[in-house]
Amino acid sequence: MAGAAAIPAEIPDTLRGWLEREHGHFIGGEVVPSASGKTFETFNPANAEVLAEVAYGERAEVDQAVRAARDAFADSSEWRRMLPSARAECMLKLAGLLLANGEDLAHLEALDNGKPVKFARRVDVASSATYLRYFAGWITKIEGAVLPVDHPAMHAYTRLEPVGVCAQIIPWNFPLVIAIWKVAPALAAGCTIVLKPAEQTPLSALRLAELAIEAGFPPGVLNVVCGDGATGSLLVDHPDVDKIAFTGSTGVGREIAAKAGGALKRVTVELGGKSPNIILPDADLDSAVKGAFTGLYFNSGQVCSAGSRLLAPRDRLEEVAEGLTAQVAKAKVGPGLDPGTFIGPLVSAEQKSRVESYIEAGRAEAELVCGGTDVDSPGYFVSPTLFTTEDDDVSIVREEIFGPVLVLQPYESLDEVAERANAGEYGLAAGIWSRDISSVHRLAAKLRAGTIFVNGWGTSDPAAPFGGFKSSGFGRDHGQAGLMGYLEHKSVLINL
Ligand code: NAP
Ligand code: MG
Repeated sequence: MAGAAAIPAEIPDTLRGWLEREHGHFIGGEVVPSASGKTFETFNPANAEVLAEVAYGERAEVDQAVRAARDAFADSSEWRRMLPSARAECMLKLAGLLLANGEDLAHLEALDNGKPVKFARRVDVASSATYLRYFAGWITKIEGAVLPVDHPAMHAYTRLEPVGVCAQIIPWNFPLVIAIWKVAPALAAGCTIVLKPAEQTPLSALRLAELAIEAGFPPGVLNVVCGDGATGSLLVDHPDVDKIAFTGSTGVGREIAAKAGGALKRVTVELGGKSPNIILPDADLDSAVKGAFTGLYFNSGQVCSAGSRLLAPRDRLEEVAEGLTAQVAKAKVGPGLDPGTFIGPLVSAEQKSRVESYIEAGRAEAELVCGGTDVDSPGYFVSPTLFTTEDDDVSIVREEIFGPVLVLQPYESLDEVAERANAGEYGLAAGIWSRDISSVHRLAAKLRAGTIFVNGWGTSDPAAPFGGFKSSGFGRDHGQAGLMGYLEHKSVLINL
């Protein structure tokens, strides 16, 4: 049911004007309503009020967007004829436009997702521009090779060509950043895109697509269709999509990878995690505790690579628990627009109840150290919570909670901790806190995870490939590996 949108007073006027507009899809360079007129609501997690109404995409809109992307990818299209330096120029311009509109975008992320505006500014907006600049640099350096073929009279070389029309489906935890993680390498490769943001946070993707037109990308190169899982599913099934790039839950990723396999579409899936963070006996405990705290509670724990399972030497366990409790006590829980907030609300009522059910399970299967209390607000708040347990087989140790809930566990030896850290189904990230260089390298080699953080947690860099081992998915975002996910290798063999 449609309710009147309630837009908080303390946001930039330019953003207010934008929010009050109609929010259609963005197809072929234009804002397009749904043929059916169907819409859905997106909420402000800080107060549970409706923030905006957005067009809901069905088959007609998915078809229209894929057609626009296909037309923009045609041999003779403006996009395909654009010189590499001009494409790079568009991408650099888009990075500049994100920063120029940074206050609006940071407030938009704070309102739609709930995250603290100060982090949205420093992390979401700033790093989005950094990723675009990094991939802008690749555009003029995508090279094939001359091949040393075993033939007396042949000239052979490779061309790296864009895979084509990409369906990109993203989650709600970093709506703008993850959109950029997908869009930037695809554009660098010369692909065209239909992006489907999460139903909880569709707004920044729509603004991004408008800014891409302002930056000079031709219409149809970046299209956005809004909607829910059914919309995403139509996009995955569309016969004219060449590649699917998905970030989200392991369950949906499994389904998408299976469908892509059946249709032999290219696919990359970046999925969930339950990442172990290991404090070695020699670690600087003060920085390890602070790093473990932000490594989990940042973004209210809604981070795929969150360090959600902390392992400490048995004789340091109490000290670590005390340090974390002190950090939790200092962290202000509040609305994202409040400049003092460290922990904002969760994204949705559904996510809040999911996390609360893990806290309930935790009370039965582990020991509550701090948190677990109700927050007096209509918003989707969950207080930062810490458990300890020795048992590796309980749900809060094994499953991804995706909320501000950390579980602390003791261990005895390096071999034992490596084995326990590797025992789970996921393999997205792992962390090591130590100043002992040989232990660090030995453990970094043993841990089965796509990213190993040492003496820090959460750094994401456009040059460093990011993705999962095991059920955390396959394929990589970022770096040359990320770019290669959008390129086909073509061998040209010429008899001379
Ligand atoms: P999700 O439910 O899997 O949704 C992700 C996206 O897929 C959303 O846009 C969603 O639409 C869409 N979707 C849902 N069902 C679909 C289907 N059957 N076919 C096609 N698309 C479908 O995940 P989420 O709850 O939004 O996000 C949290 C999860 O993402 C966590 O598990 C987290 O670990 C993971 N994540 C991973 C990474 C990484 O890089 N590895 C990064 C961030 C998050 P709706 O809008 O309707 O849900
Ligand atoms: Mg919202």
